[in-house]
Formats: sequence, C-alpha cells, structure tokens
Amino acid sequence: MTTANLLDFDLEGLAAFCERLGEKRFRATQLFRWIHQRGASDFAQMTDLAKSLREKLAGSAKVEALPVITQQESADGTIKWLFDVGDGNAVEAVFIPEDDRGTLCVSSQAGCAVGCRFCSTGHQGFSRNLSTGEIIAQLWFAEHFLRKHLGRDERVISNVVMMGMGEPLQNYAALVPALRTMLDDNGYGLSRRRVTVSTSGVVPMIDRLGADCPVALAVSLHAPNDALRDDLVPLNRKYPLAELLEACQRYLAHAPRDFITFEYCMLDGVNDQPEHARQLVELVRSQGISCKFNLIPFNPFPASGLLRSPQPRVLAFARLLGEAGIVTTVRKTRGDDIDAACGQLAGDVKDRTRAAERMAQRRTVVLHPARKKPATPTAQEQ
Ligand code: SAH
Ligand code: SF4
Repeated sequence: MTTANLLDFDLEGLAAFCERLGEKRFRATQLFRWIHQRGASDFAQMTDLAKSLREKLAGSAKVEALPVITQQESADGTIKWLFDVGDGNAVEAVFIPEDDRGTLCVSSQAGCAVGCRFCSTGHQGFSRNLSTGEIIAQLWFAEHFLRKHLGRDERVISNVVMMGMGEPLQNYAALVPALRTMLDDNGYGLSRRRVTVSTSGVVPMIDRLGADCPVALAVSLHAPNDALRDDLVPLNRKYPLAELLEACQRYLAHAPRDFITFEYCMLDGVNDQPEHARQLVELVRSQGISCKFNLIPFNPFPASGLLRSPQPRVLAFARLLGEAGIVTTVRKTRGDDIDAACGQLAGDVKDRTRAAERMAQRRTVVLHPARKKPATPTAQEQ
C-alpha cells in the first residue's frame, strides 16, 4: 500500500480515507485539526486519537512538508521561501505582513504554460502541476513557522492569494481541495473574501470555480483590446476579452465580493497610454461590470524586452480610470532587498525565482473615483 500524503485531502477526502482504514468518518475532523490548526505531522503526538488509529496512520500515511531551499526575510517583514518540489523544480511562497492582515502568496504550478510576454515564469515554460498537498504545504509550513517565529498563538495568515508561479485554473483538480482546506473551519478558517484566485482568463474554469468553490477573483487583464492582449497573454486567442468579461459577470453571481479585481501590469509604451485607459473604461462600461483595477509596476527581466512604465505615467493612467468612476490602486513593491537577492540563488533554481518580485507587492496609492455615480464599490480589497 502506498503512503498517502494527508495534505492532499480536504476534510471530505480525509473522511473517505479514514473510512478506507476502517475508521469512523468523524475521526477525520480531529486529524484535520491536528494537522492544519496545530501544525502536527507526527501521529504519535495526536494523543486524543485512539492508539489503534495512530498505529494505522503510522503505517499508511504521512504529512509531507516541502523541503525549504531558502528563506529570505526583508527589512519590511516580507518573507520569501523557495520550496523544492523535486526534479530540479522549485516554487515560491511569499508572506507579506501588513497592519491589519497577513497575506501569503502561493504557487500552483512549477512553471506555467500560458507564456505571457511580461512574466518570467511564462518564459520558463511549464514543468508540472503541483498536487493539492504541495499547494497546501506552502500554507501549512508558512502559518506554523510564522506562529513560532513571531511568538503568536493565534492565526498569522489571514489572506491567501493564488498569485505565485503558475496558472491556478489550469490546475483546477488540485486547486479546489486546497481552497476548501483553506476555507474549512477545521482547517485554516479563512473567509472566502480573503482567498483570491488570480487567473489569466481560463473562461470555462472561471464558471466551474463559481459553481464549486467561489472565492475572490482577480483577472489579469493587461490590455484593453484583443489585438494587444493576444500578444501579451496568448491565452486570449482562445478566450477573447468579450468572453472573459462575460465569464467575470457570471462569476459575480456567486462571488463573495461584489466586484472583480482586474490586474494590469504597466509596460512602458505598450499598454500604458491614455488611449488604453480610455479603451479600458469603454470595455468595462460596455459590459457593465463591477470591478476594481490594480495597476502593477512591471518587474523587468532581460528576456522580456519590456520596460517598466515611469511612475508619472502610471499615476496619470490611474487618474483617468479613477475619473471614470473605477476604483484604482497602484501597487508598490515590497521586500525589495530580498528580491534583489533572487538572482543570487544557485543553479537551475535561479531562473525559477522571479515570482516574488511581482508577488511581494502591495497597494499604496488609492485613487478615489469621482463619486457622483460610482460604478464600483469602494471597499478595500482583502
Ligand atoms: N497565472 C495567474 C497568477 C500568477 S501571476 C495570473 O496570471 O493571474 C500573478 C500576477 O503577477 C499576474 O497579474 C501577473 O500578470 C503578474 N505578473 C507576472 N509577471 C510580472 C512581472 N514581470 N511584473 C509584474 N507583474 C507580473
Ligand atoms: Fe502564467 Fe500568470 Fe505568468 Fe501568465 S502571468 S505566464 S498566466 S504565471
């Protein structure tokens, strides 16, 4: 019998596993709490479980952590881990502390098949999907490490964003049990509003997510028309903007938030002109979609041949959207000092570590739209 990794199961899956061991399903709840709420991996430690169950578990299961290759802590408290997922592949998770929340940015794949022009993960190509266990292991490790590190008894991570390496909606089967574990009161008990899936626009899977496990949705837009988006986000050729926005509109019927967040990476001379802002306003108005924009300063890397938009242009762009009634935020990079160290990592891991540069970012400028007829809510995201 192969050894099961219990991090692969949501509570329902763990109950089914307990049944296969000839145990009552409710045992799974105790076990799930030990693992996710208390960070336990040693069954002998789980003293309120029957000894017979502990023995069965010892023979058939494990809680498999991901080996940590590096951990870097920034002066601003941002912590980045590089995890080994085997065969020369590594993925990152980044913890971003703020006054009112702690956010963990989680990876869903080693590499990515979408191949966006401005993304170093995309340039690297696709290695493989992460398992549910590998996705949840990032949170399991970070949460319990941070409690010890910060000397806290209660939860440290209040928000999860699936904005690390990979396209989460192209790893749907593994993603959903991981999301369920994040949301489960016996697991991490995160609010649906505080778990965000970020996607480049896998239209059918947006619908499935809405039906199976609605959480906050961020859509990486990056362009206001199909010609430009086809070039920047190749998936657009399969799911063009009109279809994508219709899927966003449908998602809103299920979503825990009453808006979609559109991410827009600002690329010098490519998508950052006033005309692009005007087209964006037209686009979201024509669809009547309730949304917010997050403008992301581009983190350049040589192979992209692209440059970051100058800050005044980003602010002017934000102002145009704001004036049209769209709540728009501009992110500022966090953890600059440890991002700088990314390039110093060894071997083939080196090229797989750029994700934190875009992940360790946060909003600093909030531009309030003209308030006459707000097209979107003003609530702060996450
Ligand atoms: N694949 C998903 C989630 C991971 S990417 C998606 O594309 O949404 C998370 C965010 O980082 C996306 O909005 C993506 O467009 C952005 N991003 C990628 N490369 C970047 C770069 N070099 N600089 C700034 N943001 C980048
Ligand atoms: Fe993949 Fe997202 Fe990067 Fe595009 S931006 S290549 S979808 S990880």
